[in-house]
Amino acid sequence: MAAKEDFYKLLGVDRNASDAEIKKSYRSMAMKYHPDRNKDNQEEAEAKFKQIKEAYEILSDPKKRSAYDQFGHAGVDQSMGGGRPGGFGAESFSDVFGDVFGDIFGGGRRNSPQRGDDLRYNLELSLEEAVAGTEAKIRIPVMVACGECAGSGAKKGSSPIICSTCHGHGQVRMQQGFFSVQQTCPTCRGTGKQIKDPCGKCYGQGRVQESKTLSAKIPAGVDTGDRIRLAGEGEAGERGAPAGDLYVQIQVKDHEIFTRDGANLYCEVPISFVTACLGDEIQVPTLDGKVMLKIPPETQTGKLFRLRGKGVKPVRGGAIGDLLCRVQIETPVHLTKEQRALVEQLGESLSGGGKKHSPQEHSWTDGVKSFFDKLTG
Ligand SMILES: [Zn+2]
Ligand SMILES: [Zn+2]
Repeated sequence: MAAKEDFYKLLGVDRNASDAEIKKSYRSMAMKYHPDRNKDNQEEAEAKFKQIKEAYEILSDPKKRSAYDQFGHAGVDQSMGGGRPGGFGAESFSDVFGDVFGDIFGGGRRNSPQRGDDLRYNLELSLEEAVAGTEAKIRIPVMVACGECAGSGAKKGSSPIICSTCHGHGQVRMQQGFFSVQQTCPTCRGTGKQIKDPCGKCYGQGRVQESKTLSAKIPAGVDTGDRIRLAGEGEAGERGAPAGDLYVQIQVKDHEIFTRDGANLYCEVPISFVTACLGDEIQVPTLDGKVMLKIPPETQTGKLFRLRGKGVKPVRGGAIGDLLCRVQIETPVHLTKEQRALVEQLGESLSGGGKKHSPQEHSWTDGVKSFFDKLTG
């Protein structure tokens, strides 16, 4: 598929355009590409029309617009949850056109009460919790179906009546210039029902704000940026419509010993100068207890030791990662006179063998020498 055209360009507005400007431009574009006015090249007009409609759908929705501004087409093509599968290809022109006039002349064509909003909750976990999985208690403010009226919005014992303006259709016909268009009924806002005797607790809204505590099962292996969807745990819909979803956004706190990179864990292990020289077995921490790590004689500082399978099992499956321990050789401090003498003695002994006891220094000295030669030469 060809690269998509910029949505702002399609609508002929600049990136700072206000909602009103976007709407105005969209309206005039929609008129311009109306099929009755493009009898000679209907197909072309239709294609253009769909692009304009898509652009408007994104830019007229503050959430989608900001996703688009940040990430371009990629930000809105995979917009979360909802979204129509297959984009626009599957729709017939008449569907598109019907929608457009619903949009332009107010309201859209919703016949049923609106689904509740999705909610987002930021959950901070320790590394241990993220790796092992946990049961998190989440307290969120939510709009829930009113218990008094069971979400209907009508006072207990009464029920909503058929809307007298639209007779239950949710839509009314309106004359707009040379078009006759459907408009959402202003009396019942598209629901087809009217509440004569509103519920006293929710004032006819059918939902009330409460805070609820949820228990969310966090699977083992999640990482910062992962999102867990709890279907139907978002805000309640209007008057009995389905609830939205709750998205739990994971943030893993820094750990004092380990850092994580995907399935692998990293840690730094200080070892003594003597251990580095002679070799030893040392204890190193892992997320599930201590293990022994063999340090071979003559180990250099910065060397990475891999402990297979001591990392993280990724939440999306795949092999368990490794723990990588980087050794840091510590120079002894607070030396006594006697110890200094011993080190001096060791130094003399080592320098007696030329540079063969210093694997790095030899090539390093050569490098520095040629560097200076170039500067002065
Ligand atoms: Zn109520
Ligand atoms: Zn109505």
